[in-house]
Amino acid sequence: MGMPSFPEAAEEALGRTQQRHNLHHATHTIRAKRAGVVGELDDWQALRTAGADAKDEALAHLADYLEQLEENLTANGATVHWARDAEEANRIVTGLVRAKETDEVVKVKSMTTQEIELNEALRDASIDAWETDLAELIVQLGGDLPSHILVPAIHRNRSEIREIFLREMGAVGRAAPEDLTDDPARLAEAARLHLREKFLRAKVGISGANFAIADTGSLVVVESEGNGRMCLTLPETLISVVGIEKVLPSWDDLAPMLQLLPRSSTGERMNPYTSTWTGTHDGDGPQEVHVVLLDNGRTHVLGDSIGRQALRCIRCSACLNVCPVYERTGGHAYGSVYPGPIGAVLNPQLRGTASEVDKSLPYASTLCGACYEVCPVKINIPELLVKLRGEVADQERPSAESAAMAAAGWVLSDPRRLGAAQKAANSVGRLLGDRTIRTVPGMGAWTSARDVPTPPTESFRQWWARERGTQ
Ligand code: SF4
Repeated sequence: MGMPSFPEAAEEALGRTQQRHNLHHATHTIRAKRAGVVGELDDWQALRTAGADAKDEALAHLADYLEQLEENLTANGATVHWARDAEEANRIVTGLVRAKETDEVVKVKSMTTQEIELNEALRDASIDAWETDLAELIVQLGGDLPSHILVPAIHRNRSEIREIFLREMGAVGRAAPEDLTDDPARLAEAARLHLREKFLRAKVGISGANFAIADTGSLVVVESEGNGRMCLTLPETLISVVGIEKVLPSWDDLAPMLQLLPRSSTGERMNPYTSTWTGTHDGDGPQEVHVVLLDNGRTHVLGDSIGRQALRCIRCSACLNVCPVYERTGGHAYGSVYPGPIGAVLNPQLRGTASEVDKSLPYASTLCGACYEVCPVKINIPELLVKLRGEVADQERPSAESAAMAAAGWVLSDPRRLGAAQKAANSVGRLLGDRTIRTVPGMGAWTSARDVPTPPTESFRQWWARERGTQ
């Protein structure tokens, strides 16, 4: 809420030449890598079907799989919390961190916590939340917002990152070396040294999860840097905030996902780090594990038979990298942690279409269909965009049908108005006699294929009074 509409924000973004150059370079590089590794597999389409089927099965019986997940997580020593919305989730997490008597946490791999604005809630409770994913660190130190699902700092180039590190690191921890260059290895080293002291000090880690396996009660995080694994294993307490749509029925369903996700996201054959954790284990890893299962609009999306396919999304970002609109505007114009084609359908579904930005998002597309073609779980994004455009159009310009329904509601809510309407209809019926109404002014298209029933010459009440008197 309060964000400008997409066209307004996009116009501003289009004026940033450096950002457009950075985005073009990055999306085309990842796009080519993805096409190469996907082309290596003869069964890619079968894998896509298997991925979509696994997510559909989970969504069709979501309540059952979530209960199974809770049961197995609990049996393995984790504590499960349920959060209806962002406010409830933030309250739960803040309470858990306070209980550990610490004023800082390390965080990794969690778009869900960005969705609920957890960092802001923690800051209000005087708790510092340190992002440990390299790109997230760049975004946080730059006082910026993420602009890509997988590469949140995609809009920044190396020299901008060097400037941010030199300017900001010292204020919140170990400073960057004064002779820092924009060589990627030197930048990564500066980030590693800066983060290491935070990892070793933090008592609480906060993460998301890519998948939650119901039949074993396991959470799965895939990543490229190893920072996630540090975050998941070093702190004494781990809090994972997981959207309820992340559940998969069984361990077997993970197999297609672990092939689909890295190829679609980073153009790699497998993720460098895949971490799974199942509750707590004496003397190994966090000794206290909390899992917050978050709804925040997801069950509403689930209730829509067409819209629910958006919940299959595994946040790979392939649709962003091929989208001609995203490539030119970048992620900030979408006004959410979920940008690009998936953001254009997911945000209005999760948040509704009341705000300027949410009602403009379904139009942030050329409907070229490239997003559908690359989506590893076969989400028909163009179909969802068209459906949402219809909903926004109905909401903006009431249709003849909705105007007629509103008028009918007004008449039916008052017996005197109903009586007057019936009398008027009876008069029309007497005037028409046996003639059939073939067309009604203003409803030409509707009546061209139908005849309108002739109104009766008396109402049921009048008939009753005439036939039965006072009985
Ligand atoms: S919609 Fe499909 S392509 Fe886009 S991020 Fe989600 S899974 Fe990936």
